[in-house]
Amino acid sequence: MVVIGAGVVGAAIARELSEYQLDVALIDAADDVGTRTSKANTAILHTGFDAAPGTLESRMLRRSYPRLRSYADAVGIAVEDTGALLVAWTEEQFATLPALARKAAENGVTDLHAIAVRELYELEPELGPGALGALLIPGEGIICPYTPPLAFATEAVANGTTLRLRSSLTGVEHRGALHELVTTSGELAARYVVNAAGLRADLVDAMFGHCRFTVRPRRGELIVYDKLARGLVRHVLLPVPTKTTKGVLVAPTVFGNVLLGPTAEDLDDRDDRSTTETGLRSLVDKGRHILPRLLDEEVTATYAGLRAATEHADYQIHVDAEQRYVCVGSIRSTGLSASMGIAEYVVELLAGAGLVLDRRSDRVAIRMPYLGQVAPRPHADAERIARDADCGRIVCHCERVSLAEIRDALVARIPARSLDGLRRRTGCLQGRCQGFYCLARVAMLLAAGGSAERILDGES
Ligand SMILES: Cc1cc2nc3c(=O)[nH]c(=O)nc-3n(C[C@H](O)[C@H](O)[C@H](O)COP(=O)(O)OP(=O)(O)OC[C@H]3O[C@@H](n4cnc5c(N)ncnc54)[C@H](O)[C@@H]3O)c2cc1C
Repeated sequence: MVVIGAGVVGAAIARELSEYQLDVALIDAADDVGTRTSKANTAILHTGFDAAPGTLESRMLRRSYPRLRSYADAVGIAVEDTGALLVAWTEEQFATLPALARKAAENGVTDLHAIAVRELYELEPELGPGALGALLIPGEGIICPYTPPLAFATEAVANGTTLRLRSSLTGVEHRGALHELVTTSGELAARYVVNAAGLRADLVDAMFGHCRFTVRPRRGELIVYDKLARGLVRHVLLPVPTKTTKGVLVAPTVFGNVLLGPTAEDLDDRDDRSTTETGLRSLVDKGRHILPRLLDEEVTATYAGLRAATEHADYQIHVDAEQRYVCVGSIRSTGLSASMGIAEYVVELLAGAGLVLDRRSDRVAIRMPYLGQVAPRPHADAERIARDADCGRIVCHCERVSLAEIRDALVARIPARSLDGLRRRTGCLQGRCQGFYCLARVAMLLAAGGSAERILDGES
């Protein structure tokens, strides 16, 4: 069994498959897990309240939400149950709120409340003037975008999955009961294949002889504001969505910053994750309206992610039983939230295609480093420091990342092999100074790999 693509969706599928007695390989073209769209999104844990009812996306979100919410607690993924306020700024938008509440109920989300203007400004005192009312969606929240793909892949590997990075699938030959997968790291034979290649899922689908959708990346640019802005906003502030986009939102992050974005712009280039002056300007204009004081705060970073948009509004998940092949494409704006639901569904489809599923009795549980701000981080945990002095030795001062966290990330089951890999595993380099102060030290630790301590001893 081979899963192509170790983004949040492919990694979730590999994790699900690792619950059974199967020989699974998870492959990715990149040098780490979760390096493409899965690391550059808005990190909202969606309930699916605004999905089109009856769609696969709606079903997957509904299925995924409770699973991901409890999985996050079980393995240490940072989540905050902030709730979201969907704010109406015009009479026209205000008039659509009852219909949105009915749509939410059709999607199984029934705990929405209508919020009158006065209460809205009590809930969000810094909201810009002119809001007419809102819907409160208590289940919407914020989640760490980096840990889920790493957690899924780590659990899969802990339970026997082989992870092959730097393995780009370049061709497929079909030989009887086996698919011969040609990759940049050699060949692999698979009886069953799952295509979770994100922005390239259509290209992989074509290797299996299908032409069902074409990915046209939809770029979303975002601005990350400094942690001093965190007190300005309590909920995720959503706009009324349109047909093409969920629109520009303001949201706190689990790291303690505030996000403004994303834009929505169709591109031809599947790799263009650059930010643009036009995009950022449009965000600033919208942000000024939503939360005026946000614009007085410092910008920590900007980034862009690419949604795997296609000509279809819904997810494209197809099984070809004869081919023993499942295609998971067009997972556009909600794949982080829907990942565990998609994984469960894909395994059901594979079972329907003849895959024999015998549960493993010897499962290994995992625990991930917690990157949020709600529970104490190692540097603030006296007991941990007493057990491991490196927890009290700070390397990245902006994000208060200790030597212990960096050391552990370098020798983890799926170890960090790049500065970005360390950033996603520990939070280092992504704070106020963006690595200005700690980059050299972090780079030295990375170069020393597992012997991080030696370097620091040498320094002192
Ligand atoms: C701006 C923006 C905001 C978003 N906000 C949210 C949000 O708030 N909440 C939410 O739930 N979702 C959100 N999303 C959507 C979510 O990020 C995506 O749906 C999800 O990350 C898709 O995951 P994936 O695994 O399908 O794709 P990816 O993360 O792109 O992974 C696909 C993997 O396949 C690999 N690959 C491709 N081709 C090959 C090949 N030939 N051989 C081997 N490997 C290959 C790639 O290297 C990549 O690692 C947002 C997306 C964007 C862009």
